[in-house]
Amino acid sequence: MSVLQLVVLGIVLYMLIPFVITRICGLVVIRRGKAARQVAFTFDDGPNPTYTPRLLDLLHVHGVKATFFVLGKEAEKYPDVIRRMHQEGHQIGIHNYTHTSNWIMTPGEIKRGQIDITADILERITGERPTFYRPPWGLLNLGDLFNYHLRSTYRIVLWSVIVGDWKRSTTAERLRSKLLGRIKPGAIVVLHDSGKTLGADADAPLQMIAGLDAVLMEVHQQGYSCVRVDEMLEPSERDRYREGTSTTKKSYKSSVMR
Ligand SMILES: [Zn+2]
Repeated sequence: MSVLQLVVLGIVLYMLIPFVITRICGLVVIRRGKAARQVAFTFDDGPNPTYTPRLLDLLHVHGVKATFFVLGKEAEKYPDVIRRMHQEGHQIGIHNYTHTSNWIMTPGEIKRGQIDITADILERITGERPTFYRPPWGLLNLGDLFNYHLRSTYRIVLWSVIVGDWKRSTTAERLRSKLLGRIKPGAIVVLHDSGKTLGADADAPLQMIAGLDAVLMEVHQQGYSCVRVDEMLEPSERDRYREGTSTTKKSYKSSVMR
């Protein structure tokens, strides 16, 4: 077998097989809830000192609890924003320490350099250890699929609705009509409260927040309740992945001691 063939085989095994399993088949990950008339709004890439507080204001006005998948490095810089999320009843999950794809990291780098460090930061700020994880761009590698620590400690969450809100071209009105057209019972919607990541427009969250205001009004009128992702799970599964439970702490301690 030539070097080129080996490289291609490596890419297929490490990147594409997990992509097919998770993104196309929906195995291993959660992409939607089962309950009728529930929708979960999730926000990636924050906290952002400008946009996240504005988003929290909006969620407060609408009485909505949401889920934030945050970057450990940003959480370290803006602990007050994380504290506010937590105090206002939102769920906080991990989106790696930096916005780096799992496709270009080893399982060891991901565990120690991305997930564990972010869990430590969030636990220091809120007193609760996160138990939900969303990898950047929703991309897992083969090691993640067989990573017992990751799979037993964290529920891995993707989405069922994505609308390109990280681009300025997705105006508030376009975002509103796209979201309202795609939200179905059990939908998990991914949006972004920071425009700092690769490929995003810096001020795009401003339009997202404006469009979301109209969407929240509309989904309430349609009889939806907006819930955190953990509230969408079956009760037995919810107990398993409850934030800060002794099970989580135990598995964290054993992982630290290893
Ligand atoms: Zn992201």
